[in-house]
Amino acid sequence: MTPLQDSFGRTVSYLRVSVTDRCGFRCVYCMAEDAGFLPKAEVLSLEEIDRLASVFVGLGTRRLRLTGGEPLVRPGIMELVRSLGRHVRSGALDELTLTTNGSMLFKHAAGLVDAGVKRINVSLDTLDPHKFQVITRWGKLAKVVEGIQAAKDAGLHIKINTVALKGVNDDEFHTMIEWCGERGFDLTFIEVMPLGDLGDVSRLDQHIPLTRVRAELETRWTLEDTDHRTGGPARYVRVKETGRRVGFITPLTHNFCESCNRVRLTCTGTLCLCLGQEDAADLRTPLRLSDDDGLLIDAVRAAVRRKPKGHDFIIDRNRHGTAVSRQMSATGG
Ligand code: SAM
Ligand code: SF4
Repeated sequence: MTPLQDSFGRTVSYLRVSVTDRCGFRCVYCMAEDAGFLPKAEVLSLEEIDRLASVFVGLGTRRLRLTGGEPLVRPGIMELVRSLGRHVRSGALDELTLTTNGSMLFKHAAGLVDAGVKRINVSLDTLDPHKFQVITRWGKLAKVVEGIQAAKDAGLHIKINTVALKGVNDDEFHTMIEWCGERGFDLTFIEVMPLGDLGDVSRLDQHIPLTRVRAELETRWTLEDTDHRTGGPARYVRVKETGRRVGFITPLTHNFCESCNRVRLTCTGTLCLCLGQEDAADLRTPLRLSDDDGLLIDAVRAAVRRKPKGHDFIIDRNRHGTAVSRQMSATGG
């Protein structure tokens, strides 16, 4: 089958799937504390997610990332991971991976490895238990650190994702580099993105440009340029002293759209064509209309052809920092 291509000639080979909008944390930049969740009937079943993801694999998707919400809180998630692992074993997928807050890793790390997962991203913004609770509202740092250790012991490669938050973790960037370096983890800093309305919380107060983070790191570490690229928005350097990579995801200050190879599927079966645009396509209807994949394949191809050229994020005072109304937990990071 011809691979998925958009109207700008970009091949779409990377799918992120949000398997749930639910989460046991309420990170201040991601969800309001009283965030409501979708009714079950709107959410795709695990079998439907498997079918949809497998259609993408048939259309040339080489990398599949499960995310959320928190993917590991969805009941039955490990069955889905094991089932999708068949595409890794057959060679159709280069990689099956997930992004997690780490809270359930202590339970699932070994199972992930058995299913064919080799690398995971774990979100961790601070190493201070009190700050961790302030940022995640409901999370416990010790449980996450235990999970990260279990993942390492199980043989998973780990990348830590840290959202840079002004006045919250901006005194910990060096410590994070050290902590990750000692454990053999890569680390990516992320700028706060204007996704979803947070009620009283303003992202203007949270935002730090990563140019400032990098400048701060350079006061203590030797950052060497690398040509490592993932097709995503991260730019990587190597920290000479630790040997580990550090990435910077700066969607607000840099343009990465020309090399974008990815689309995102929400847990309701909506295909988001660009993280920074509202443009999306409903795949749940063609999925549920017929057991034959023909309709679905046509819908996927038509949607990808509509992928916008680039994003439109702006954090400014007039727009209160929200360019796109859906939350990261709905689109899946
Ligand atoms: N629950 C999982 C986790 O936290 O890793 C997966 C989903 S979470 C939405 C994916 C990533 O998005 C996390 O690294 C989180 O820190 C990041 N994130 C959430 N909201 C964000 C925002 N407004 N700006 C930047 N990053 C955000
Ligand atoms: Fe949950 Fe991840 Fe959002 Fe935090 S960032 S509330 S862990 S989905």
